[in-house]
Amino acid sequence: MKLDTRAIRYLTAEDWRVLVAVEMGSRNHEVVPTPLIAQISGLRGGSGVHKSISNLAKVNLIGKVKNAKYDGYRLTYGGLDYLALNTHRKSSAIYSVGNQIGVGKESDIYVVASNSGVQRVLKIHRLGRISFRSVKANRDYLRNRSSGSWMYMSRLAALKEYAFMKALKDNDFPVPEPVAQSRHTVVMSLIDAFPLRQISEVPDPAGLYAELLAMIMRLARYGLIHGDFNEFNILVKEEAATEAPADTSATSQADADFPQMVSIDHPNAAYYFDRDVACVKRFFERRFHFTSDEPGPFFSDAIKDVGKDGARRLDVEVEASGFSRKMAKELESYMKEVGIDGDGAVADGEGSDDEEEQVSHDAINDGSDRTEDDAREDGTIDAQKPPSAADDDLVS
Ligand code: ADP
Ligand code: MG
Repeated sequence: MKLDTRAIRYLTAEDWRVLVAVEMGSRNHEVVPTPLIAQISGLRGGSGVHKSISNLAKVNLIGKVKNAKYDGYRLTYGGLDYLALNTHRKSSAIYSVGNQIGVGKESDIYVVASNSGVQRVLKIHRLGRISFRSVKANRDYLRNRSSGSWMYMSRLAALKEYAFMKALKDNDFPVPEPVAQSRHTVVMSLIDAFPLRQISEVPDPAGLYAELLAMIMRLARYGLIHGDFNEFNILVKEEAATEAPADTSATSQADADFPQMVSIDHPNAAYYFDRDVACVKRFFERRFHFTSDEPGPFFSDAIKDVGKDGARRLDVEVEASGFSRKMAKELESYMKEVGIDGDGAVADGEGSDDEEEQVSHDAINDGSDRTEDDAREDGTIDAQKPPSAADDDLVS
């Protein structure tokens, strides 16, 4: 789905209010009835609400749904994008949106700029995009979750990413700096590096290999297993080595992608750990014809090191920071059900990195001032509950 920011400057304060009302109404209603939209927006009685509704529908931020029992509207991905962008705009995390630099199977990555012109990355989680195609076998699951699931799951993915990124950055792991999170989006620093997959040669494969395995082991000391540690998610930077100026060396950076990061106490921890290690080994053999003489590292070694050298248990800290165990479970079971299991699984579809264009930024900031509604809206950034059949008696 393309992020089209053209309409954002033309929305009136009332349009925004109505858009927020549709979002709020979606918590309990798969299709939000028009009278409820009017009621939540507080713009009762008058043509204002209807005008806003039709404005929003025209630019596909909400979609009209004719239902057996009643007509109403549902928020589209575009509408959710705008709500998130508006929050980032107001907190000055984003001033303008530039080019798309990546398409993952479950996310879109854009370069954005802050008010002061600093380039950043906006990652928009889009769970449900491939899911609905591959999910036929699990139709019951979708029916239970209904249409709210893509929104809720994408939001959980963003929350998880932000929580882990913050914990990792605070402990000096080489990840992007988390800047802000709203709904299904995360704003982070731009890493000036390329995915390992795009790199055909490195000056010192043995050194880079050791560095990557050391990162896996260091994560384990902090109670974490990446779970998706592969050539797509490892960014490599070429640097002039300080000691030998004539030479260059490559250093690794983990990117922001840890949808499968799990606690070292997770029942499948050993499996994920071994897979991460095997992934690095396999890639280095194939790409750089490098095979280490040393076996391992093994999960049994990793588990012995948990907490060593004063490493804090980040799995525990993240849980306390707002991404609860329950949320982790929900996200995990969703990903399992729709068959998402690492970037490797659909690796060959991920090719848009090469198609970089000239960066052109569309300003989304109209310079408008904050209102009371804004504050109310800003309060809605935490994950909403997925609608369930039980709390939505209006849905047939
Ligand atoms: P997905 O979950 O879709 O796999 P990723 O977070 O792995 O998304 O991002 C996809 C690609 O976008 C990465 O391989 C990388 O090239 C680029 N990317 C993501 N985050 C950043 C960042 N902070 N800085 C620079 N490039 C990034
Ligand atoms: Mg990735």
